[in-house]
Amino acid sequence: MARLDANKATLVKDTLGKLIDRKLLASLEVCVRCGICAESCHYYLADPRPEHAPFYRSEQVRRLYRSLFDPIGRHLPWWVGAQRPTEESLAQLAEMAFSTCTLCRRCTLNCPSGCDTAQIMRAMRTVAVAAGLAPEMLVQLADASIAREEHLEDFKEIYLEQVRALEEEVREATGDPQAHIPVDVEGADILYVALSGAHTILPAAILFHEAGSNWTLSMFEASNYGVFLADTARAKRITERIVREAERLRVREVVVTDCGHAYTTLRWEAPNWFGKPFPFQVRSLIELVAGWISDGIITVDPTHNPEPVTYHDSCNLGRNSGLIEEPRTILRAVCQDFREMTPNREHNYCCGGGGGLVATPEWTDLRLKAGGPKAQQVRATGAQVVAASCDNCRIQLGDISEHYALGTRVVGLMELVVKALVPQRAKGHPLEADVA
Ligand code: SF4
Ligand code: SF4
Repeated sequence: MARLDANKATLVKDTLGKLIDRKLLASLEVCVRCGICAESCHYYLADPRPEHAPFYRSEQVRRLYRSLFDPIGRHLPWWVGAQRPTEESLAQLAEMAFSTCTLCRRCTLNCPSGCDTAQIMRAMRTVAVAAGLAPEMLVQLADASIAREEHLEDFKEIYLEQVRALEEEVREATGDPQAHIPVDVEGADILYVALSGAHTILPAAILFHEAGSNWTLSMFEASNYGVFLADTARAKRITERIVREAERLRVREVVVTDCGHAYTTLRWEAPNWFGKPFPFQVRSLIELVAGWISDGIITVDPTHNPEPVTYHDSCNLGRNSGLIEEPRTILRAVCQDFREMTPNREHNYCCGGGGGLVATPEWTDLRLKAGGPKAQQVRATGAQVVAASCDNCRIQLGDISEHYALGTRVVGLMELVVKALVPQRAKGHPLEADVA
């Protein structure tokens, strides 16, 4: 076992020390080793080995914590199970934090002591980043997002060209030859933040058009790989791009696309990093669309989606952010045969793709295995279509559909809405452009 050199040992201690607040301390101290959390975790359900149980994972980090901060652990490590870090143990802890926990917090919900294993794993990820042990792909993706703002002028023209090309499809879907995708519009009510690629821009553009919204598309993508790294400095820089854009355009609200961690970050976490509330509201596109359907602002016809459809609750949107009934309002309106998975809502199993797992190819086999409980849930519904409101979930659900031969098609929630949409022109309503 190679001992850490003095600099690294200090770095590890300082990094973990800065993260210890009352909540993390409680999670590190209150575990009574009852084992109840094991059955909550999709890794354990897929492969019931002790090392896949949440309490086992958090115990490994606890050993590190006790060796560095517990007075008894420093002097009598064997008494409290403290373990001084070595190069090997630190590398193992880093791999465990990034590969065998999606930070889904299902175990937290079921822990009688309120132990937040996800927070412990996040702390471990932060330590791993500081020690240079984070997955290279996540670091590269986070840094690419930061570089996008620094080189905005270089790619702006290409981005605008891509958006213009999409406008043709918006015109076709709405039947309005004047339909367009506004970008960089000062004074718009809404700044919409999509993901890279057309799949989250196009459905939203069609729906904003039909709802008559005064909106503008962000130049940046919503995903934040700094969050997956649990690297607040990087996560804050990625978020700052959107905050600056929203302030410059003086929008009233920022609407986040179908992305679990992006919504949770901007809505709940990021204001804490800035130490103040944002001067704009943050909502998910799901909240807007559910409201438009309930208020009759857009019209949908469920016969356009006749197949049995089930819904996967994203851990971040559902369990961690409370967006539970809004997707169901949408699904009941746009599908003829909506079927719940069991369990569902805040008790839903993680699909296995969260926490950056779909972006780390080195753990693909483990990720697919951990998707086993989700595959069973999907199969039991008999649904042909699985709707997802988070892009990471959508990728994982597609992969497990293939891996477990489920024969299901995976679609974004907004794709189902657009398919069911009855455009205003089809209803004979004049659009603004016609009136003018
Ligand atoms: S359920 Fe809570 S207290 Fe029980 S072993 Fe798991 S983390 Fe510890
Ligand atoms: S947060 Fe989720 S993945 Fe991580 S240990 Fe708990 S249940 Fe398992």
